[in-house]
Amino acid sequence: MEKIKMTTPLVEMDGDEMTRILWQMIKEELILSYVDLKTEYYDLGLENRNATDDQVTVDSANATLKYKVAVKCATITPNAARMQEYQLKEMWKSPNGTIRAILDGTVFRAPILVKGIVPYVRNWIKPITIARHAYGDVYKNTEIKVPGPGKAELVYTAEDGTQIREPIHQFDGPGILQGIHNTEKSIKSFARSCFSYAADTKQDLWFSTKDTISKKYDHTFKDIFQEIYDAEYKETFEKLGIEYFYTLIDDAVARVIRSQGGFIWACKNYDGDVMSDMVATAYGDLSMMTSVLVSPSGAYEYEAAHGTVQRHYYKHLKGEETSTNSIATIFAWTGALKKRGELDGNRELSAFAEKMERACVKTVEDGKMTKSLSLISTCEHPVILNSLDFIRAIRDTFETLGA
Ligand code: NAP
Ligand code: MG
Repeated sequence: MEKIKMTTPLVEMDGDEMTRILWQMIKEELILSYVDLKTEYYDLGLENRNATDDQVTVDSANATLKYKVAVKCATITPNAARMQEYQLKEMWKSPNGTIRAILDGTVFRAPILVKGIVPYVRNWIKPITIARHAYGDVYKNTEIKVPGPGKAELVYTAEDGTQIREPIHQFDGPGILQGIHNTEKSIKSFARSCFSYAADTKQDLWFSTKDTISKKYDHTFKDIFQEIYDAEYKETFEKLGIEYFYTLIDDAVARVIRSQGGFIWACKNYDGDVMSDMVATAYGDLSMMTSVLVSPSGAYEYEAAHGTVQRHYYKHLKGEETSTNSIATIFAWTGALKKRGELDGNRELSAFAEKMERACVKTVEDGKMTKSLSLISTCEHPVILNSLDFIRAIRDTFETLGA
């Protein structure tokens, strides 16, 4: 059989631990026999990040701006324990944080739905996609542990030296302080990424903040979204028959739980972080959650929402069998190949990726799955497979599917 040709490379970002093992298996078993794969490879494994002083992460993000499509493996975000384990020169920053800062993108997370894995919220029959603003707020904060009595103020100094000064609190004892910011530019990018993605996927867009309490900070998010919607997207949305809907975050939470799904919920950075974990868990499993970073310049970086599955990796190193679910990592590959196909007008490549996704879903629906899925599946006699056999079962399903 002739392999599918590619005209433009994908940016391939390799990663760490168990997902690095799955990465290799997925390429060998599911992609390389069918696609004449062209990638520009960046090794974001922690050892190589350390060896290159993390330059490799920056390079991979810049390559993504150039080629527009990337696929990323999960990576370790160093902490004190990892400093020791990998003898690191420095506590390198989260690669996802670095990549997000360079692409100035928004992260969209959506669950993969399969029959037999019933969401905890029974009325959720369609996926809910969470769009998380990926810049600023508490993720770029400055904090002070206040030692004792004193005055705290918020001060802004303009380039000409004039100042705006607001009292925060008069401390009469020890306490804590936090300074956070965001930029109009980033909020605008966030809004445009959300409206474009909603139009792209023909889904309603919901947006929520705490604007009743935060009358300047959160309210600015609300205003910017409305201005950009009215000026740039209203017509498109009306033509597509989709809706933009703003509500207070408390109200949004209640409505989301009562909904059937099938929309995008845009959240500020922290809300998106927390809500995406809740939504993922309620749909069944973090290992069935996809993630794509969309930049306003039209670059896309696909990955699984879960981490490097460290516990399974240590079992693997001891020579024990693992049953790690590779579906979200496979969907990162298929998402990237589909987008590459779409951008290059390469229909064969997109069709291949779509068929591989159907093979993943059908394999699980046929009762073949990994251990964690079997625990939440309503399938009566699931066949529990190890990491490699599960990928091979997907390949077998793929081979039986028509075009
Ligand atoms: P994790 O890798 O997501 O795994 C947490 C637990 O969830 C696992 O121990 C496993 O549970 C279950 N799980 C997650 N993915 C699974 C899969 N595909 N198949 C089966 N079970 C799965 O989170 P973590 O252990 O907190 O983090 C490990 C490393 O990943 C950390 O160094 C962290 O920095 C990194 N991380 C990276 C990213 C990213 O690159 N985007 C995101 C999050 C975390 P059981 O052990 O009970 O089977
Ligand atoms: Mg989180």
